[in-house]
Amino acid sequence: MSAPEPDPSVAELIAARPHLTMHALDGLLLEQVPLIAIAEALGTPVWVYGAGTMRVRLRTLTDALAGLDAHVHYAVKANDHLAVLGVLGRAGAGADVVSAGELRRARAAGIAAQDIVFSGVGKRTEEIRLALAESIGQFNVESPAELAMIAAIAADMGRTAPVVLRVNPDVDAGTHAKITTGKAENKFGVPYGDALGLYAHAAGLPGIAPVGLALHIGSQILSLAPYRAAFARAADLVRGLRSQGLSVQRMDCGGGLGIGYRDQPGASPAAFAGALRGAFGGLGLRLAVEPGRWLVGPAGVLLASVILVKGGERFVVLDAAMNDLVRPAMYDAWHGIVPLSPVDAVRPPAPVDVVGPVCETSDTFARGRALPPLAAGARVAILDAGAYGAVMSSTYNARPLAPIALVDGANWAVIRARQRCEDLWAGESVPTFLD
Ligand code: PLP
Repeated sequence: MSAPEPDPSVAELIAARPHLTMHALDGLLLEQVPLIAIAEALGTPVWVYGAGTMRVRLRTLTDALAGLDAHVHYAVKANDHLAVLGVLGRAGAGADVVSAGELRRARAAGIAAQDIVFSGVGKRTEEIRLALAESIGQFNVESPAELAMIAAIAADMGRTAPVVLRVNPDVDAGTHAKITTGKAENKFGVPYGDALGLYAHAAGLPGIAPVGLALHIGSQILSLAPYRAAFARAADLVRGLRSQGLSVQRMDCGGGLGIGYRDQPGASPAAFAGALRGAFGGLGLRLAVEPGRWLVGPAGVLLASVILVKGGERFVVLDAAMNDLVRPAMYDAWHGIVPLSPVDAVRPPAPVDVVGPVCETSDTFARGRALPPLAAGARVAILDAGAYGAVMSSTYNARPLAPIALVDGANWAVIRARQRCEDLWAGESVPTFLD
C-alpha cells in the first residue's frame, strides 16, 4: 500500500491559489478583500465568492479554446446564484441547465435563451413546454422516451426542437463513483450502439431537428485519457452518421474538468482544448463545453468559526456543518482549511479532526488534518467551496441557510441574506384536526 498523500500546509494551499493571499495585518484576502471583515459583518458560517476569479477562469478557458468553434455553457448546477450567472453571462458564457428552475434562473440572470442547453435524464412535460416556449438553443436528449415526449410536445406547440443526442460512450472517467456518468451502467445518455438508429429515427420525427451529439462522462476529471477515449468514440459516430447521409453540425462535449483541491494543479484547459482539436478538428463541428466546477469551484470559500475544542485537542467543532457543505460527507471530498488570522496561520500544526455540530458522524470536514491550533472563536476558510457547495445545502437540524457575499476586486456585497429561523417553517401548516 502506498503511503497516504501528505496534506499540503496552509502556506502551500494559499500559494497554489492566485486569488488568495495572507496579508500580514488583514489576514486571508480573497481577491483584495479581507475575509475577516466579511465574517465580522455577516457572522459565520458565510459563503464568499470571487467574481474576478470566476472571470479570469472563464477567460483562461475561452482563450484555450480559441480557434475552435467552441462555446462555453456554464453548468448552472455547480452554483446557480443569480449574481454568479450574471458574472459569467456578462463575460460571454451560455448556460447548461437541468430543470425549469435552472432555466428560469439563467433567463432571470440575463442569459439569452439561444445560449441555453437543457440536459438531464428526466425532463418533465411542463419543463419541455417552458424550454420550447422560450426557444432555447438545444435539448440534450437522453432516451427514446424523452425524444418521443419532446416530439409530441413540440408538434403540439407548432415548434421544432433543436436536439442533440447524449451518447453514453461507456468510458470510465476515473473519478469518484458517485460522479461518474459515462459508463454503460450509469443512467445517463443513449447506449452508444443505439445512437445511430435513434438519430436516424429522430430525423424523421415531426417537431424534432437533430443537430448533433452530446456526451458528459463525469465530474472532477483530472486526466485527459478518458476525454480522449470518449471524444474518439463520438467522432467515429459523427462520421458514421454522416456516412448515412445524416446532418451532424454540433458536438457538445460536456463538462467535468477537475480542480486541484489540494495543491496540485487542476485540469489544464490548454490540454483539454488539445484533446478537442485532436478528435474533432477538421470535422467542421460547432463545439460546446459545459464546465461547472472548474469555473467556480476555486472562486468560493465557506467561512466558519470554531465553537469549541473537545477531546483534549482532538476535535475542532465549527459552526459550519454538513448541511452547509455536504461534499466531505457525501463524496469523502478533501477541502483545504486555512485560518483567517495571520497569527493563527503561522503556528506550528498538529493533527485534528475538524467537525460540524450536526448530529451525524459524517459531519466531518477533515480527519487527522495538520492545522495550527485553533481556539474557540478562531475563524477559518474552507477552500474551493464555490461549486456544489451552497447549491447542495440543506436546512437539516433546522439550521438556516448561510448568507453569501460576492467579492469583486476590492469591493464586496451581500448577495444572499442569512435565512431567518422563521423562514424555516414558512409555508408549513398544522391541520386543525390535530387540535
Ligand atoms: N454537464 C452535465 C450534463 C452534467 O451533468 C454536469 C455535472 O455533473 C456538468 C455538465 C458539469 O460538471 P462539472 O461541474 O464537473 O464541470
